[in-house]
Amino acid sequence: MALLIEHVDVLNPDSPRSVASNCSILITGNRIARIASADELNCAELLASPLTENLEVLNGRGLFAIPGLINAHTHSPENYMRGATERLPLEPWLVWLYGTCGEFTPRDHYLCAAMSAIEMLLSGVTSTIDHLWHGGAWQRDFLDAAMQAYADSGIRAAVAPMFDDHDYVLDVADELGYDLRGSAYGLSHGGYRPDREAYRRGVLRDNLALFEDWMRSWHQYDSGRLQTFLGPAAGHLVTEECLHLSFELARKFGAGVHMHCVETRVQEYCIRRVHGKTLVQWLHDEGLLAPELSLPHSVWVRSAEDLDRLAQSGAVPVHNPAANLKLGSGLMPLRAMLERGVRVALGVDGACSSDNQNLFDALKLAALIHNLSDIDPSRWISAREVFEMATIGGAAALLMREQLGVLRPGALADITLLDTRSALLAPMNDAYGMLVHVETGQSVRHVIVNGRIVVRDRCIVNLDAQALVEEFFARADRLPFRRPLDAKTQRDVADAQAFWWDVMRRWQMG
Ligand SMILES: [Zn+2]
Repeated sequence: MALLIEHVDVLNPDSPRSVASNCSILITGNRIARIASADELNCAELLASPLTENLEVLNGRGLFAIPGLINAHTHSPENYMRGATERLPLEPWLVWLYGTCGEFTPRDHYLCAAMSAIEMLLSGVTSTIDHLWHGGAWQRDFLDAAMQAYADSGIRAAVAPMFDDHDYVLDVADELGYDLRGSAYGLSHGGYRPDREAYRRGVLRDNLALFEDWMRSWHQYDSGRLQTFLGPAAGHLVTEECLHLSFELARKFGAGVHMHCVETRVQEYCIRRVHGKTLVQWLHDEGLLAPELSLPHSVWVRSAEDLDRLAQSGAVPVHNPAANLKLGSGLMPLRAMLERGVRVALGVDGACSSDNQNLFDALKLAALIHNLSDIDPSRWISAREVFEMATIGGAAALLMREQLGVLRPGALADITLLDTRSALLAPMNDAYGMLVHVETGQSVRHVIVNGRIVVRDRCIVNLDAQALVEEFFARADRLPFRRPLDAKTQRDVADAQAFWWDVMRRWQMG
């Protein structure tokens, strides 16, 4: 299989306006074989080569080729809950989420992952990391269903099933006199069990055995297009035993570890109170800050020592500006990270806190919101820096440094082709400025993943998108969040809110 994109403009930082005009891109198998001027590399030249037998030629006139975008953090199950909440910080929001998400079947996981894939592909995203959650105990069917959706859609994905073994925030709530353990969230995070330690070990062992079996079936599926990661839920939700075992299993497969990292002030306060040190220092002291670790949010990593530890480790923080704004979590210290050489990725987060899966939104937000935290304009985040977070940074989070996020011979052929004659992209001024500040995803015309066309003329090739949307629409109606909140969940959310206020006051006092 070979694909030649002729007469296409290509993103190139060394060209005027970062656009190399009238090029050709030759793809053989799943990799970019050559990029050259259209005069040098053309269909006529290839006629003489053995490639012509299976050569498809795509007319690239009026199109602009960029590396496929990488959404380095999301939770596909939240797709049902788009636009369903507002004005809640993370801790009460979690209590609402667990109290109203209802029971997911394997089909729900399939549909939610498929909806993510459809929305992302149509808006130019070619890869994602799905930090997949499930409201109850894990079963193999749930994991397989999400993987199958990604397999069917043609997108590149790493799925990291979320699990935890000890909730340190609930411990602090106990200490401060708040009973949060009876909420749906609390019950699924240890609850009131007298045998909590034995239970924790049992669940941890069962989860890891399940994940190992699943990884054996799916890791590196379809020439590495799908990966299986370990997804310890968050730094405040795991013991050191859980993390060490997660790394051990991940390393057996050459897989990544994906874990939420101090997203909120409540988490930051609770970790310091329980461990007597920050999360990053704790991870560092345990020998667990490593290049295969990606850390969504990393909002409250603030000391110079912790930022240096991140930089030296090669771990990859993932910036999620929309979710951080919606839940009022705070602003990641992005400039301080970039100036130390930390490789930062970009994500949208789940659709209940974001609320779409459009990475162009995240690009624009990330490029703008940090202007408010620094009065020196020379330290503001540039469009190119943000775009590289969504490409090169995402590749690092996927453990595919040098192979993804760039358009050059030898790299994997994940390419998004934008229509430069769209109302948005005409005229093509500075390409990074156009991509970050202007584009919304609506100029996306074709999308190529792993050398195959998966969106052609704005249509998903491998799925019946309309039938899936209809089924998704109908199934959402049975879930509890579509009805008024019951009295118990209302009380549980209010209790979590009271705890949140208390910790915020304590956090402000240091
Ligand atoms: Zn998240």
